[in-house]
Amino acid sequence: MTQRLAEIPKAYDPQKVETKWYQFWLEKGYFTPEIDSQKKPFVIIMPPPNVTGELHLGHALTATLEDIMIRWHRMMGDPTLWLPGIDHAGIAAQVVVEQMLAKEGVTRHDLGREQFLERMWQWINQYGRAIAEQHKRLGASCDWSREHFTMDEGPSRAVRTTFVRLYEKGLIYQGERIINWCPRCTTALSDLEVEHKEETGHLYYVNYRLAGEDGIITVATTRPETILGDTAVAVNPQDKRYTSLVGKRAILPVIGREIPIVADDAVNSEFGTGAVKVTPSHDPVDFEIGQQHDLPSVNILNTDGTMNENAGTYRGLDRFACREQLLSDLEKDGLLVKTEPHQHSVGHCCRCDSVIEPWASKQWFIRISPLAIPAIDAVTDGRIKIIPERFTKVYLNWLENIRDWCISRQLWWGHRIPVWYCDECGQFTVTTEDPQACTNCGSSKIAQDPDVLDTWFSSALWPHSTLGWPEQTEDLKYFYPTSVMETGYDILFFWVARMIMMGLENTGEIPFHTVYLHGLIRDEKGEKMSKMKGNVLNPLNAIDNYGTDALRLAISTGTSPGNDMRLNKGKLEAARNFANKLWNASRFILSNMEDGTSFKINHAILPIEDRWILSRLSRLIDSVGSLMGDFQFGEAQRQIHDFLWGEFCDWYIEMAKLRFRDGKSERGSISPMPVLAHVLETSLRLLHPFMPFITEEIWQNLKGYLDYDMAESIMVSPYPTTAVGDEGSREGLEIDAEAEKQMTVVIDIVRAIRNARAEFQVEPSRWIEAFVVVAQTRPAIEAQAQAIETLARVRPLTIIGNEAVRPDKAKTLVLDGAEVILPMAGMVDLDVERARLKKEIDGNQAEIARIEARLKDESFLSKAPADVVEREREKLATQHDRLVRLSERLSDLN
Ligand SMILES: [Zn+2]
Ligand SMILES: [Zn+2]
Repeated sequence: MTQRLAEIPKAYDPQKVETKWYQFWLEKGYFTPEIDSQKKPFVIIMPPPNVTGELHLGHALTATLEDIMIRWHRMMGDPTLWLPGIDHAGIAAQVVVEQMLAKEGVTRHDLGREQFLERMWQWINQYGRAIAEQHKRLGASCDWSREHFTMDEGPSRAVRTTFVRLYEKGLIYQGERIINWCPRCTTALSDLEVEHKEETGHLYYVNYRLAGEDGIITVATTRPETILGDTAVAVNPQDKRYTSLVGKRAILPVIGREIPIVADDAVNSEFGTGAVKVTPSHDPVDFEIGQQHDLPSVNILNTDGTMNENAGTYRGLDRFACREQLLSDLEKDGLLVKTEPHQHSVGHCCRCDSVIEPWASKQWFIRISPLAIPAIDAVTDGRIKIIPERFTKVYLNWLENIRDWCISRQLWWGHRIPVWYCDECGQFTVTTEDPQACTNCGSSKIAQDPDVLDTWFSSALWPHSTLGWPEQTEDLKYFYPTSVMETGYDILFFWVARMIMMGLENTGEIPFHTVYLHGLIRDEKGEKMSKMKGNVLNPLNAIDNYGTDALRLAISTGTSPGNDMRLNKGKLEAARNFANKLWNASRFILSNMEDGTSFKINHAILPIEDRWILSRLSRLIDSVGSLMGDFQFGEAQRQIHDFLWGEFCDWYIEMAKLRFRDGKSERGSISPMPVLAHVLETSLRLLHPFMPFITEEIWQNLKGYLDYDMAESIMVSPYPTTAVGDEGSREGLEIDAEAEKQMTVVIDIVRAIRNARAEFQVEPSRWIEAFVVVAQTRPAIEAQAQAIETLARVRPLTIIGNEAVRPDKAKTLVLDGAEVILPMAGMVDLDVERARLKKEIDGNQAEIARIEARLKDESFLSKAPADVVEREREKLATQHDRLVRLSERLSDLN
């Protein structure tokens, strides 16, 4: 693949480069690790994106951060596995295919389960890998040969095995409980899948007449339609107001059913009237009260949120329409006492935002607290580390208060619950293999539970199920426990905590030793990106417009664990500009290379700037190494970027150009080429995990010239380290403090002169005279005189000692270790500048006089608000400052 200069285009074209190198890496098999029992592997299991997914910025951030770690470890020589996968995405995927069917005018029920699942698989086979292909465009170096889908045979077997084992241990049970029901998705949801929002609703006060006597009891409710399902009224036993009513009966409005009045400690006397209606089928607290007092349960809802036959005349109405109708009927009957606005928390479905109905229903649950204990221990005893640390408390708090997990879903798409019911004896058969007969009575009249498992059930097994569990495969033995779980902090409970619980339960070992949680990507104003707001940045468009490397760089700029970050076009443009800067610098270096040149650095004869850049590179390598180990990728990237753009391109290459131009002088006789080549080649390897494509392209070009012993690709080259004898260290680099000190003075001098030129608006092409006053570093500065002249555009440059007579009418710049004196005549026309300054000072003094007069004016001071007076005082201070600076500048000229 070696290229020569003639083929290197002037501008960097990501489109031409990216596919070519990705294909090359794939063909070479670099993404697939070799199992080497002598070495400890580095393993990341990729959070599997949804099969319905379109690559969004969240995926791009996840993949970029993981690829950075993966490429770094691979270059460090670790057997490195990044295992990709795809999630079957229960509800989301089923909805997509249902919507397709709706266009054909059929429902899944028309098709029947079997045919519907066939359609699901057709869809999955056709579109299901789109998101994986999109990950390739990001440069993700994951091992596609180990890619898994949650519905594959292996992970499916792991799901069944886990279910059966937990069932046999008594940790999975079926029970009638109040669950969260989404009428739109028509399924039960776990507590985590419900988003609670504070909303202003109403509190309705409704009178229930007493049965067999005069009198009423008033209850307050936020969901009046549930009156239809009431089977009692409850009060607190301590509540004196109601003592005489306990044991009596009330008549349910509209329906006319007689219900008992009971006393229960669960009733809060402070709420409403202190008397509450009890609807055991539709409220968790009422469910408990119902159990306590042996109350009947009346279910009033159909699965789609309409009212059922128990709702009498309201049957068939939607729950909210029923509410309105019922309220107006209550009002007609004079039973609606009052309506108050009421602030309360309302549960919404996290997928479709519908209002959730608490609903008593028979579902499968995991008894989770026995699984939570080892998961708590694994973090508190330090076997698992959560980054950033502040999420440790969040994690522990959730696990310490965890409630049983409802795992059954009334869907067709997913892992079907491995439970068969017997028609003959009514017992369950729970088994990993489809049974032919009931294990209890031998009857063949058995039917499988129609429900599927929560998608997160299979995700919880992902780190071990993808490696072959329950089989003791070679992969499982070598790669498990994995190393880092990198994901968004928003799925700490949904996924991370559950992986830790299930990993420990199934394998006895932690699934990973580090959890790295990244933040969200927000827009430039810090707002969440959403299609509704129209502020979504599509990563595939960004790749088309700026290149993958620019997207990856922009996304990892300023990234730090757990913190949200902002992304805008400006960041993408800056990243593209950096790619171009690096490309141009590399073109310059390559264009000065010749075949057969030796690139060995002769350390004995190096000029100061060579020693300086090598020393700076050493520091960079050290620093990046420790930052990467500390998961500070944003800072590592910033330091590499700043070194390349600033120290290397802006200073070292600019100075090297003088040496090429001035080849015959004494300094020019030492070619900068070995150092240029060495620094570029090393920096490319440092940068590779962040920007894989451009670094490979330049590195391969460079490789064609260098007489180094180099790998086939940058991605399998050693990562630079300064450790002696380490593979990554091509030269035994050391810190050269003296060279750094001297070059710092040179750079400061040039910078100060450039700033002064800008201040006096000297045209860029104009040469100005300069004096530099130095003491100890004089020889070093004299050696750099030519560089200073060119870089600061000063001529003549006179270097003098402290004792020398200084020129007057000059601007003096005091620096650490040097002083710069710029005669004003060289920069400006003295007469014109003096006149201009005098005029400016006159205007300035007039303004001062005006403000001072105002601040002495009693009527202004008495009438004006304090902040206006304060602003005038600030203005005065600013004008005084300005006067001082203008006067100083004028005295420089006199
Ligand atoms: Zn829903
Ligand atoms: Zn049976």
